Amino acid sequence: MLYLVGTPIGNMGDFSSRAQEVLSSVDVIACEDTRRTGLLLQQFGIENKLFAYHEHNKSAKGPVLVDMMKKGLDVALVSDAGMPSINDPGEDLVKLCIENELDVTAVPGPVAAITALVLSGLDTTKFHYEGFLPSEGGPRRKRLEALKSIPETMIIYEAPHRLMKLIGELQKNGFGGCKAAFCRELTKKYEEVLRLTVDEANEHFTNTPPKGEFVICLEPVPQKKGEDMSQEDMDDMIRRLSEEGMSTKDIAKEVASITGRNKKEIYSYILNLLQ
Ligand code: SAM
Repeated sequence: MLYLVGTPIGNMGDFSSRAQEVLSSVDVIACEDTRRTGLLLQQFGIENKLFAYHEHNKSAKGPVLVDMMKKGLDVALVSDAGMPSINDPGEDLVKLCIENELDVTAVPGPVAAITALVLSGLDTTKFHYEGFLPSEGGPRRKRLEALKSIPETMIIYEAPHRLMKLIGELQKNGFGGCKAAFCRELTKKYEEVLRLTVDEANEHFTNTPPKGEFVICLEPVPQKKGEDMSQEDMDDMIRRLSEEGMSTKDIAKEVASITGRNKKEIYSYILNLLQ
């Protein structure tokens, strides 16, 4: 059986007693960095076998872990911090286990994205988890462009040395006046949540260079409604969503909800436009 075990994102008090029990009792712990996980376990007096499983060896080592579980061993998967599978290895192993009809369970722990969202003061009823944007070039530009049509609070991970670049790009993409929460060093001694517009953040971080780990929560760009959305804007939006792989049915639903137009009419319109 596979246990996905959450570990602290900073504050050791967040290491749950169930997580500790599971990590003591499984047969092997798969982890991104054996040294780092070794230190965590040492602090809590947990001794167990560690098995390196990370981004660069996951395709070779996943099947090895699956073989262990098929033989009846229990495996726990931890990442360097937070929940495995959230911007960390895990997803592939979970899929492999499901394909091999092995049981998977989770021992939930902190997630930086959700911790930031609940502190942000932004809308939490619906949200979009973006994680890290592609580091550069066309793929990055494309994602930034796509963020403009997301109508929900967005959650972005970014390294401190790239934060100013991200802020500049958000400004260029129409987010300058949007509210945001820049959440730094969550659960740690120097935790800080700066609730500023993107334009204000530009000024703030120019004077106070960013340090530590960041999650950025971002309010959506105000969506143009019905009559004030030009035909050209609507066509651009349809083409963009189609390029991102969205089905015609879903594009029609999205465009109808934003423009207030009839979904069936939009559907036929999209078919013509994308011919
Ligand atoms: N699996 C983790 C989770 O559940 O949140 C995410 C791992 S991802 C590789 C690492 C990124 O998460 C960091 O670069 C930062 O953006 C964010 N992060 C992790 N811990 C954080 C913290 N204590 N405060 C702010 N951001 C954090």
